[in-house]
Amino acid sequence: MFIEPRVGNKTHASRKGWIEVICGSMFSGKTEELIRRLNRAKIARQKIEIFKPTVDKRYHEEDVVSHNANAIRSTPIDFAQDMLLLGGSCDVVGIDEAQFFDDGLAEVCVKLANSGVRVIAAGLDMDYLGKPFGPMPALMAVAEYVTKVHAVCVQCGDIANYSFRNAADEKQVLLGETDSYEARCRHCFTEGMKQKKS
Ligand code: ADP
Ligand code: MG
Repeated sequence: MFIEPRVGNKTHASRKGWIEVICGSMFSGKTEELIRRLNRAKIARQKIEIFKPTVDKRYHEEDVVSHNANAIRSTPIDFAQDMLLLGGSCDVVGIDEAQFFDDGLAEVCVKLANSGVRVIAAGLDMDYLGKPFGPMPALMAVAEYVTKVHAVCVQCGDIANYSFRNAADEKQVLLGETDSYEARCRHCFTEGMKQKKS
């Protein structure tokens, strides 16, 4: 679906940017898909830079790591704004865990794309309550391409688009893995939420 059109002799000035979003629940393969696209860009000898928010230190301080242990080197940053300085001269900018960035994210991605950068952002579209997560809705609105990937519902095997939290904690951000979260389909998610209430 996506090509690496700048291989060869296109100059910096003539290149065109755009925004791709990869969204879905936890375990849906967002990071895997991000790494796949970035590796293709690397093969095309493009200059890439990968960012993740400093809040995400689950597996590694610097690497972006998927649940099946694929990894790619990244730069942890505090603010979306930091990408302008560090990513402006790249062909491709990758962003993982985009939902944890501040509300300036969409504007920063637009600036990068307008200056000719291909931006690929992966992030959770919904939080553990099933509500749109942080800057993701705005980012999806301004993106050219939005890909929704799905996990497998651990309760029934259907496709899962929700991240169900097993722990009772009510913070929006609770970094955790299989023990704290489950990928669930709509039906099993709503059933689980009902049970939690009662
Ligand atoms: P994400 O970034 O969306 O959280 P990852 O790309 O890190 O997802 O991991 C995807 C991998 O997670 C899958 O290839 C699979 O090996 C593993 N996985 C674990 N639980 C599930 C699940 N319930 N559904 C699908 N994949 C799962
Ligand atoms: Mg991920």
